[in-house]
Parts: sequence; C-alpha cells; structure tokens
Amino acid sequence: MKRTIVRIDEELCNGCGKCVTPCAEGAIQLIAGKAKVIREELCDGAGFCLAVCPTGALTLEERETDPFDPALARAEEERRGKTIIKETCRFCGKTEEDAPLIPIRTGGESAWVCVRCLPGLIHG
Ligand code: SF4
Repeated sequence: MKRTIVRIDEELCNGCGKCVTPCAEGAIQLIAGKAKVIREELCDGAGFCLAVCPTGALTLEERETDPFDPALARAEEERRGKTIIKETCRFCGKTEEDAPLIPIRTGGESAWVCVRCLPGLIHG
C-alpha cells in the first residue's frame, strides 16, 4: 500500500541516537552507527522522531510499503519495556516523570518541551 513513512538520510545521520526513544513503536534502532527503520510495519508515520534530529536526517515521505501493524508495535513495546527518556524540558527543566515531554523544533534547533510550557511557546 502507499502511505506516509519516515525516511532516513544516511549521509546526514551522525548516529546520535536521539530519534530512538521518541518512537513509541520501536521502529528505529541504531545499527552500525546509523539510524535504521528495523521493520517498516512498525513505523506509523506520525513523525515524532523528526523534531529531535539535529541534522535534518529524518523526513516523512509517501511511498509503497507494508501497512502499519499496531499489534506488532504493541508487542515490540512490551518486549522493550517502559522507556523513560533522559531529556528535560528546554524551558523549565521538568523531566518526563514531571510532565509529558514533546519533541519540537524551535529557532532552527531540536528541543524537548513539556506540555506545561508548550502553550506559552505557541501563544507567546
Ligand atoms: S536523530 Fe538524526 S542524526 Fe541522530 S541518529 Fe537519528 S537520524 Fe541520525
């Protein structure tokens, strides 16, 4: 089927691994120092990984691939167990345990922001 899915530019990828944890489905892994989509059925094309990439290596594209498989994604999530990211909110320093964190792009940079600071960032 034709659908939206993440595309990784290997030339731009520096292997930092920042895109791995935002992907709740576990679709992205670091392999030999580069980010890879390990199974295309795990990528739902939501694009949460895009904002955290410091090099612009991640984009979304529409192309022929396997359909997203929610059951496989749930099984992969259970296999990996709960993952708490180490990042903190760029604006208040809260952790994921204090408030949900969302990856964003602002001022040409990748950042994490908590849901409490996000409205101020949007509305000024
Ligand atoms: S965040 Fe970007 S540069 Fe870092 S591993 Fe992922 S694709 Fe590569």
